[in-house]
Amino acid sequence: MSPRPPAEPADAASRRAAPAAIVYPAGMQAEPDMTVLERARRALVKTGEVVVPPRDARIFRVARGQFFRIVSIDGPQVGDLNLWNAHDLSERFFSGKTRALHATHVSTGDRLWSTMPSLRPMATISHDTLGWYGFDADGAGIHDVIGTRCDPYTNRLLRGTNYDFCCHSNLARALAGELNAEPCAVEHHVHDVLNVFMCTGFTRDTHQYFMKASPVRPGDFIELFAEIDLLGALSACPGGDCGSTHSSDSAACHPLRIEIFEPDRTTLADWPWPSPSSYHRRHGAASP
Ligand SMILES: [Zn+2]
Repeated sequence: MSPRPPAEPADAASRRAAPAAIVYPAGMQAEPDMTVLERARRALVKTGEVVVPPRDARIFRVARGQFFRIVSIDGPQVGDLNLWNAHDLSERFFSGKTRALHATHVSTGDRLWSTMPSLRPMATISHDTLGWYGFDADGAGIHDVIGTRCDPYTNRLLRGTNYDFCCHSNLARALAGELNAEPCAVEHHVHDVLNVFMCTGFTRDTHQYFMKASPVRPGDFIELFAEIDLLGALSACPGGDCGSTHSSDSAACHPLRIEIFEPDRTTLADWPWPSPSSYHRRHGAASP
């Protein structure tokens, strides 16, 4: 049983009435010029595709300036996305800062930011066929950056069983194949994901993370513009549409397709390609 919370102070109401301030208001970071991306995506030529089987993951590469789509095929399915700088795996998607800079769920115009010390946009969401969903009556939205990824360690902790096809393991296995290594030797590169197509929120009363069946249907896609050369990995979550369970073989699962597109490069002639952060990295230490 949880201990009772302490008694409220006399001025509790006024303390709670302090106004909320957005931590990172829109416009503080450079906004992507979506009119340029709209022009660029008008004449996309497909250059490759990868199908991710259910309860498995696949690796893909996208060059700077290309677009890629994650497409629902066959049936409702959630995907767990990892992104790395193709030339330096230590620069990878930073879910927490992306959440702080944008919101708990991301859509068209939002960017996927990389880890410090680079902290730059790795990709910009250029189209989202589920952009109509917004936030529903439960407070749930699509494409969250709040969950981490299903993993065998939490499953072991909570259920005492081993399950080998969680997104963490699928991503580790796919990356291991790419790097010609054992999954346990590369799993530290796997990181908190963009939960593609997943419908999630926090409960109103206890603020616990919840999921509900994804509204994604075959033909829906999220499209991203690569701001740097990317190595990607996508897992088709064992939770399927994530309407009830994951970390088991009980949910109906479907494949996902990754499609890669080349734009008309002349439309991107003036695009401000992001450089790593220019912070000097001395962190206040006294000079030697
Ligand atoms: Zn998963």
